[in-house]
Amino acid sequence: MIAELIAVGTELLLGNIANTDAQMISEKLSALGITVHRHTVVGDNPERLADALETARRRADIIITTGGLGPTYDDLTKQTICRTFGRELELHEDILEEIRGWFAAQMGKAMPENNVQQAMLPVNCVVFDNPVGTAPGCAFEEGGVHVLMLPGPPFECRYMFEHRAAQYLEKLTDGVIVSHEIKIFGMGESSVEEALREPMTQMTNPTLAPYAKLNECMVRATAKAETREAAEAMLKPVVAQVCETLGDVVYGVDVDSLEAVVSQLMRERGLTLAAAESCTGGLIAKRMTDLPGASGVFRGGVVSYTNGVKAGALGVPEALLEEYGAVSEPVARAMAEGCRKVCGSDLAVSVTGVAGPDTDDRGNEIGTVFIALASGKGTICKRLSCGKGRGRDRVRSAAAQQAFDLLRRWMLGLQM
Ligand code: ATP
Ligand code: MG
Repeated sequence: MIAELIAVGTELLLGNIANTDAQMISEKLSALGITVHRHTVVGDNPERLADALETARRRADIIITTGGLGPTYDDLTKQTICRTFGRELELHEDILEEIRGWFAAQMGKAMPENNVQQAMLPVNCVVFDNPVGTAPGCAFEEGGVHVLMLPGPPFECRYMFEHRAAQYLEKLTDGVIVSHEIKIFGMGESSVEEALREPMTQMTNPTLAPYAKLNECMVRATAKAETREAAEAMLKPVVAQVCETLGDVVYGVDVDSLEAVVSQLMRERGLTLAAAESCTGGLIAKRMTDLPGASGVFRGGVVSYTNGVKAGALGVPEALLEEYGAVSEPVARAMAEGCRKVCGSDLAVSVTGVAGPDTDDRGNEIGTVFIALASGKGTICKRLSCGKGRGRDRVRSAAAQQAFDLLRRWMLGLQM
């Protein structure tokens, strides 16, 4: 089954909003084993929409439109689709009653008369009622092509896809697509591709595809089979092979983030963490506290941006700050050790570095970062070059990422 998506909306063409409906639908279609060949965006213009529909019906089995189902004059999706596919629109009394009911319940007012239009649907269609909004969607088949119409607002679109359209589509397909995400830190996308080139070019099902993400990358392994179990069985050896080939730069499979892995490892070991942050300005604490249940492992932290706070709150000796400067190994070590004491945690990480745009007064280059990890077994420290030349945000997020990876490696006894 080949699908094409047509998003209707001038706002999309103007760049006012991104076509997130298409992204959401594509993701869900591939999970249903439906291949998406094209995304098209057209404005609120009946001629160009008709043109896009004519083209799509010649090459796709399924056409899914989003947007333009509302009650206003520019909502022309249904009319245009009906004209193109030679269908009449008819009034659905039951849907009209639902819309009237929705206005009464949600808006506390009577339905404006132009909303009657929303209860006009193609003859002989499957109606997708819309309990989270007013515009119903629908689907019909004409000449072997299935046409599905979904509302534009993302929440409604997602709801209607998950609760209405998915059931309709499941009946049309046989087979499922299953994928697993292998998350990688410490190896760039091109090196990953290089390492996996041989298996990657030979494989058709399952497939392997690398993706670059902020400060990390990922390989997605995808298999198509008749059942989920069969797809999983095909994926298992492939995922294992990728993990073995790439080694300890793989920090997890189907995990959310590096900090989620760190948090899990700490929980398993009954360890607690604190963070002393200079150039990351609290980013490590933020990422830890974004995780639900963070209080079980994360005790707190100090954003010790100035030397005064490094000395005052963390007890970093003034002499060290004077002799070596804030961006130095001795200061990073003292920050981590001080933070561990102040916060009463098992482990403490510290980050001190030059985020830019200027170098520091000791001539350290932008991106120079010292990361230390203090524990009951002593303190280790690494000097790194993080995200140089890519702006402050990149240096900071790369430094935080490095700190999490140092924690992961320390807990797993990997090379640091
Ligand atoms: P309504 O009943 O709200 O008019 P509709 O089905 O007619 O719904 P549109 O008028 O096309 O949909 O779009 C309504 C809103 O939904 C837009 O202002 C936009 O914010 C959002 N939207 C529309 N299409 C998309 C899309 N493809 N991706 C993300 N958001 C979208
Ligand atoms: Mg609209």
